[in-house]
Amino acid sequence: MPPTTLDSPLERVIGGPSAKALGKAFGMETVRDLMWHLPRRYSKRGELTPLKDLPLGEQISVVAQVLDVRSRNMQRRRGQILEARITDGVGTLTLTFFNQGWRAKELRAGRQGIFAGKVSEYRGAFQLQHPDYELFDDDAAVPGRTALEEAALKAWAESPMPLYPATAQMPSWNIARSVLTALDSLQDVVDPLPDTLWETQGILPLGAAFEAAHRPRTDSDWQQALRSLKFREAFELQVALLFRRQQQTSMRSTPREPGRLLELFDEALPFELTGDQRRVGGVISGELATPHPMHRLLQGEVGSGKTLVALRAMLQVAESGGQNAMLAPTEVLASQHFRSIVEALGPDLAAQLNPVLITGRMPASERRRALLSLASGNSRIAVGTHALMSEGVTFFDLGLVVIDEQHRFGVEQREALRQKGTQPHVLAMTATPIPRTVALTAFGDLETLTIRELPPGRQGIQTFVVPELEMPKRAERVWARAAEDIAEGRQVYVVCPAISGGGSQSVEEGSEQALSDSDLDSGESSSSRPMRNVVDTVQELRSMPQFAGLRIEALSGDMAGPEKDRVMGEFAAGEIHILVATTVIEVGVNVPNASIMIVRDADRFGVSQLHQLRGRVGRGEHPGLCLLMSEAPQGTTARERIEAVASTSDGFVLAEIDLDLRREGDILGTAQSGGRSTLKLLRVTHDGELIAHARELAALLLLEDPKLDAYPELKQQVARDEAHLENLAKS
Ligand code: ADP
Ligand code: MG
Repeated sequence: MPPTTLDSPLERVIGGPSAKALGKAFGMETVRDLMWHLPRRYSKRGELTPLKDLPLGEQISVVAQVLDVRSRNMQRRRGQILEARITDGVGTLTLTFFNQGWRAKELRAGRQGIFAGKVSEYRGAFQLQHPDYELFDDDAAVPGRTALEEAALKAWAESPMPLYPATAQMPSWNIARSVLTALDSLQDVVDPLPDTLWETQGILPLGAAFEAAHRPRTDSDWQQALRSLKFREAFELQVALLFRRQQQTSMRSTPREPGRLLELFDEALPFELTGDQRRVGGVISGELATPHPMHRLLQGEVGSGKTLVALRAMLQVAESGGQNAMLAPTEVLASQHFRSIVEALGPDLAAQLNPVLITGRMPASERRRALLSLASGNSRIAVGTHALMSEGVTFFDLGLVVIDEQHRFGVEQREALRQKGTQPHVLAMTATPIPRTVALTAFGDLETLTIRELPPGRQGIQTFVVPELEMPKRAERVWARAAEDIAEGRQVYVVCPAISGGGSQSVEEGSEQALSDSDLDSGESSSSRPMRNVVDTVQELRSMPQFAGLRIEALSGDMAGPEKDRVMGEFAAGEIHILVATTVIEVGVNVPNASIMIVRDADRFGVSQLHQLRGRVGRGEHPGLCLLMSEAPQGTTARERIEAVASTSDGFVLAEIDLDLRREGDILGTAQSGGRSTLKLLRVTHDGELIAHARELAALLLLEDPKLDAYPELKQQVARDEAHLENLAKS
C-alpha cells in the first residue's frame, strides 16, 4: 500500500463506511480534509477519581476493571444499549453506549483501563454515557502500578480531549477515532510553507500542528496548533489572492491614453472635482494607460460622486474607440445612470459616444438597434442590468467594465461581462463600505480605492429611532412632520420591508430585500404581526387627514419596468409627494428635493441597507431627516442595529459595527462546494491584524518567487483554493 499522505483518499485510510459517512456529513474526501476538521473545543477528561465518591455532573477519569457487559434493547425506541459495569475494587459504575454493540468485543470482563466521562445518574445508580476510554494491554493489568505507569495515567486523564463539530450520524467520538487512525498512518506531511516561516512566525510544521491539534497532551499544545493553523489559513489565502491578482495584471490589454474627449468633458463640468475624485481619478487614469488590465474596487459614501469618476474613466477609454459597459443591479438604477450620463455628457459628446441602455424589458426593435450599435463599435457606452451579460450582447472593442454596487454581483458575473472583451479593465464600485479585513479577504484580488470626501454644500442627515411601542406619541409625530415638510415643498420617502400583506411571497425577489427571519436572530425582531408593506401603507397614508389632497404612490420591484420608470420620473419631477417603496430605491436614486426618509419596521433591514436608504435624502440644499420606526424592544440585537445607524453617519464605522453584529456567514457567503470551501479558523471579524500581516508576508514571497517555483506544494494549494475564492467573494 502506498504511504498515506494528505492527498490520500479517506476510504483507503479509515475504511469505506467511515469515509462515506464523513463525506456525507462534511463533504470530506481526503486525509487533508479530515485533518482540517478541527476540534470545536477541548474538554478535560477529568481528575483521577476513586469510584466511591463520584461527583455527580462532573467530568472525571477513573482507573478500573470491567466486571461484566450486557446488551439489551431500548424500551422506547429502536436500538440497543450496551452496559458495562466497572469496578476499582471499592465501588462500581456503569458505562452505557447506544448502538455500539461492537464495543462488547473490547470491553471484556477482567480488562483494565482508564475511563473518562461526565457522571450522571440513572435510576439511582451512577453512570458514564459514551465515555472515552483507553484499555491497558491485557498482561499489563497488574494491581500494583509503577510510578511510571501512574504518571502516564495521570497524563492521559489530564490531557485535553478534542470535541469535534459533529452530526447525529457522525458523533464526535466517531470522528475522533477516524482522525487518530489517519494521524497514525500519516507519514512525512509535506509542508507547503517555506520553512523559514516556522521560525519567524513561531508556528509549528504542518504535521506537528495536526498532531498537536488532534492529540494534544497539554492545553498549550492545542493552543499553539490552532494558532499555527490559523496563520497558515490566512497566509495561504493571501498567497492565492495575490497570485491570482498577479496573473490578472500580467495579462496584456490595450493601453487607453486620456485625450480630447476627457478634456472637453472637464471643461464643461459645472463644478470642481473634489480632492478625492481627483486623486482616485489620477490612479485610475494611470492604470488605464498601461498595457495591463486594471482591477480596482472603488468604495465611497453614497453621493460621494463615484459615478462621475467612472464616467471620466469611460471617456478615457472611449478616446481610442474603446467601449465601456456599466452594469447596475436594478432597472431603476440602470435607467437613472443612463439618464444622468447622457445629461452629464451634453449633446455633443452624447452624439459622439452614442450611449445605449440595455435592460431585460426593452422592446425588441429598440434592443436590436442597441445591440447592433454595440457590435459595430458605434456606441461606446452601454449601461444596463443583467441583460448586458446575455449572449446576444457583443462588443466591437470592450475596454472597460464598470460594476456599480459590486456587492450585488458574484465573481462569475463580473467574469461573464469581462469575457466580452480582451482583458478589459475592471472598475467595481460600492457604496457599502467594506471593512479593510473583508476587503483583503473576500475581494483580495481587487485593489481598493476610497473616496471619503463628499462634494461641498451637502446639508447632512439627522437620524432618529422611533420606538413605536415605547413612544406611540412620537410615532404619530412622524406623519405630522412629513406633512409639514411637504407643505414647504419637500417630498418624502416611506420604505417598507414587504410589498403586500400576504406572506413571504411579497418580499422583493432577488433585489437584496429586507433580511429574512432566519437572517435575524429569531424571536427578537418585530412582533408576530406581518411586516409593514407597501400596499397597506399607501392605503393607510391616503386615509390620513393630514395628507388629504396629496399624491401618494407605490414603487416596488414587482411592477413592470416602464411603470417603475414612470413613477420614479413623476417623483423626480415633484409630482408625487410621498413615495411608498421597497428597497428598490435603496441604491443610487437621486431626487435632491426629497427631505425625509421614513423606514417602517426598520429592524427588518441590515445596517448597510439602512445607511444606503437614508443616503436618498439630504442630497440637495435641504437637510435630510431619517426616521427609523420599529417595534423591536430595547436591548435586542435588532434594536442595537438600528440604534447604531442613528448614532453615526460614517459608513465605515457602520460597516465595522455591522460586521460585529452579523454572523460570519452573512458576510462571506456560505456556499459549500465540498472540501475546504469556507474559512476554518480565520474570522474576518476578529483577525484583521493577522490577515494584514499574512498579506505582507505573502506579497514578499511572491516578490521573491512570482511563480512559486520553489514551493510546488504551495502552488498546488493555491490551485485548490481557487474554488474557495469564488465562494468567498459572493456575499
Ligand atoms: P455616488 O454614485 O457616489 O453615490 P453620484 O455620482 O451619484 O454619487 O453623485 C451624487 C451627486 O453629486 C450627483 O448629482 C453628482 O452630479 C454630484 N457631484 C458629483 N461630484 C461632484 C462635485 N465634485 N461637486 C459637486 N457635485 C458633485
Ligand atoms: Mg452611485
